[in-house]
Amino acid sequence: MNHMNKSTEYWQGLDRAHHLHPFTDAKSLNEKGVRVMTKADGVYLWDSEGNRVLDGMAGLWCVNLGYGRKELVDAAQRQMLELPFYNTFFQTSNIPATELAGLLAEVAPAGMKHAFFANSGSEAVDTAIRMVRRYWQAEGLPERNVIISRNNAYHGSSVAGACLGGMGAMHEQSGLMMPGFEHIMQPYWYQDGGDLSPEEFGLVAARALEERILAVGPEKVAAFIGEPIQGAGGVIVPPDSYWPEIQRICNQYGILLIADEVICGFGRTGNWFGSQTFGFTPDLMTMAKGMSSGYMPISAVMVGERVANTLIEKSGEFYHGYTYSGHPVAAAVAIENIRILKEERIIERVAEDTGPYFQEKLQIFAEHPLVGEVVGRGLVAGMVLVKDKKTRELYENGSDVGTMCRNHCFSNGLIMRACGDRMVLSPPLIISRAEIDEMLDKAKYCLDLAA
Ligand code: PLP
Repeated sequence: MNHMNKSTEYWQGLDRAHHLHPFTDAKSLNEKGVRVMTKADGVYLWDSEGNRVLDGMAGLWCVNLGYGRKELVDAAQRQMLELPFYNTFFQTSNIPATELAGLLAEVAPAGMKHAFFANSGSEAVDTAIRMVRRYWQAEGLPERNVIISRNNAYHGSSVAGACLGGMGAMHEQSGLMMPGFEHIMQPYWYQDGGDLSPEEFGLVAARALEERILAVGPEKVAAFIGEPIQGAGGVIVPPDSYWPEIQRICNQYGILLIADEVICGFGRTGNWFGSQTFGFTPDLMTMAKGMSSGYMPISAVMVGERVANTLIEKSGEFYHGYTYSGHPVAAAVAIENIRILKEERIIERVAEDTGPYFQEKLQIFAEHPLVGEVVGRGLVAGMVLVKDKKTRELYENGSDVGTMCRNHCFSNGLIMRACGDRMVLSPPLIISRAEIDEMLDKAKYCLDLAA
């Protein structure tokens, strides 16, 4: 169907009549109508009215290679003609799924040699939850089934993911919380650090894990899960002392460590994985989004030796998987995505050039009257909107202020996300210095409008 023949009102009307959107207040959306995106190229999107917007969020933190990469489209098309689908259950595989598993083993940290495929970040997280519990059952310790996560963490919106994550609003709407999940404080120095230095606070926040392990009983704890940088929580960058201490605690109590790399994975922080940026070695990594630059839904759990050995040698059949685990078309796109990341040295560019440039230029916001802290790594950043810079007092209606800023951006050619009272940027990794300048100029103009 050629969408250009129809008006924006047509699409808005159809959408209003039939489409329920994720994470959206349908009633208020219906009053305004959706903005209909129609095409994209590089870091830019166009809507049905012909307006051009710079995508400062890479879609939903996922279009790492930017829009319009023909190689990814060709890879999908070739694979669709060759073998559009065959599953990886029941003693079969397909070539892209197998090749991708091998490639992931190459780019993942040493010791992570096995991939379990799924389709979304939420499914990868569910897989990790079931996998760590299966691991402990196979080890003869089935009572080790509690998974510890953090307040304000986001681990997807499946039934388990919503309970495992630390988003209060999602817990409320769950009606019944699932047992077996515990939440500790997040490492949010600006808000909770008081008089401590960031490094001192990092240790305090990590030791909340030890306290919780002791309160629950170490013999009951299966795993700890965390995003290297909390993304949807507003880009909460932990102090450098945090992750090594978490690692020490997990090692001490024999607890599995899961890095949720759904946002940080595939170059966002200037390394293949966020856990490398923060210097820790997880037992499992969940990944999605940047794995295919969002061109096809695909996700995986990378499994380190400890868990893989037990799953292979002792577990018997693991009753888990999805029809589309290892989907050949999605896998073909992910393979091509990884090839481009490597050949064009895109992650190196984030580490050495665009990442440092972006982080340095971002500091102009530190002077902005609306902004408290400005933090980030590589090509991801967050800034908190404050009522009083000196006292760090937050707005009572922080998320309304955030939404106002986001709307100014949206009407002025920039997609910048508001996560409550934190404004977030996470552009495609192919963004140039000139485009970074344009993005930050626009962001400043829009914050000025809101100030
Ligand atoms: N984990 C993290 C860290 C995420 O940021 C997200 C999504 O933003 C998910 C899991 C869930 O991924 P999906 O939306 O693909 O289910």
